[in-house]
Amino acid sequence: MNEEVEGVDSDCIFCSIASKRTEADIAHESKNAIFFHDISPKAAVHIVGIPKKHIVSLAGIGEEDRELVSEMIFEVARAARKLGLNEEGYRVITNVGNNAGQEVKHLHWHILGGERLGALN
Ligand code: 5GP
Ligand code: ZN
Repeated sequence: MNEEVEGVDSDCIFCSIASKRTEADIAHESKNAIFFHDISPKAAVHIVGIPKKHIVSLAGIGEEDRELVSEMIFEVARAARKLGLNEEGYRVITNVGNNAGQEVKHLHWHILGGERLGALN
């Protein structure tokens, strides 16, 4: 990992979005997290939520991330509420590693909604 600033990977697209160096359609932001519309949406509403700190995935969290991960889930719920998804419902997914097909190696949650979603299997 190429680290110039602590907690930021200069080669990571999501770190770049978090620091506003790369443009994204931001839907919600909190002190330590940012939520933006997925560039290639897989549902009528498809938001990606990330911690501003670079963490590879849930497989890479440490004890020091306990509060941050908790905040992330709380902010996922706030973002979904703000987007009007509460009544009809939505799905939250986080991909971890190769078996899940994780493409961007920066911890993120997908919020999918705005339409009836397919079954998981
Ligand atoms: P993953 O497969 O890693 O769980 O999902 C990564 C998601 O990030 C994909 O749905 C992909 O479309 C989205 N994504 C990748 N690069 C960008 C980007 O530069 N901007 C935005 N808004 N979304 C991105
Ligand atoms: Zn990153």
